[in-house]
Amino acid sequence: MLQDLHEISDGKIYGINDMVRAACRDCEGCHACCEQMGDSIVLDPLDVFRLTKATGKNFEALLADTIELHVTDGLILPSLKMAGENERCVFLDEAGRCSIHALRPGLCRAFPLGRIYEERQIRYFLQADACRRPGKSKVKVGRWLDASEPKKYEQFLLAWHGLRGSMQKRLTDMWNEQTAKTANMLILNLFFANLFREEMDFYVQFENRMEQAKRALGIAPGRE
Ligand code: SF4
Ligand code: SF4
Repeated sequence: MLQDLHEISDGKIYGINDMVRAACRDCEGCHACCEQMGDSIVLDPLDVFRLTKATGKNFEALLADTIELHVTDGLILPSLKMAGENERCVFLDEAGRCSIHALRPGLCRAFPLGRIYEERQIRYFLQADACRRPGKSKVKVGRWLDASEPKKYEQFLLAWHGLRGSMQKRLTDMWNEQTAKTANMLILNLFFANLFREEMDFYVQFENRMEQAKRALGIAPGRE
């Protein structure tokens, strides 16, 4: 793992309180990482919740023009849509700026940092050559991620990552086609189509839905 990491990064691993040379002067005049990203900007439930707030659209309406469904190891999840001749993110405005900056997805917030999921925490690495802007300055990782409640956000990401892994294992090794279809529909409905309520804490609602998902999928509480 560490050897691989050296090949794709500056060789260092960062915690949320570490300083990393990632700040790219507000991306002024550049939107290179908002184009031609294929279906790699996979969205989590918080991302879609934020997109519904940013656009006023529900999940179905988002699917019509701004996001699409992406499959990895049998698991169906939404990802940001790239469109047009240059395959630009649909949220990029005419001036080449992100039109939903305050509510942009987590992977966009982290870029050019990549996540390393550990059992109890997430650490980060600087993706080599991901952002070629010269003269980047140092910034605290937590500040760069722009999360208002960093600890809760980290726990949410860990839980979601755990559920994804658990689902993918079952989808590739254990479930037949019908069970896989039912499980994917359950996840899409529970975490994306059934909108989270704005007046309630997102993370509390997410935890409740995680419990429901685990019960329905036969995953023991606290286990992946
Ligand atoms: S490539 Fe770097 S400078 Fe350009 S938009 Fe992305 S993060 Fe900003
Ligand atoms: S959501 Fe914003 S930051 Fe993310 S790819 Fe689209 S335009 Fe870029």
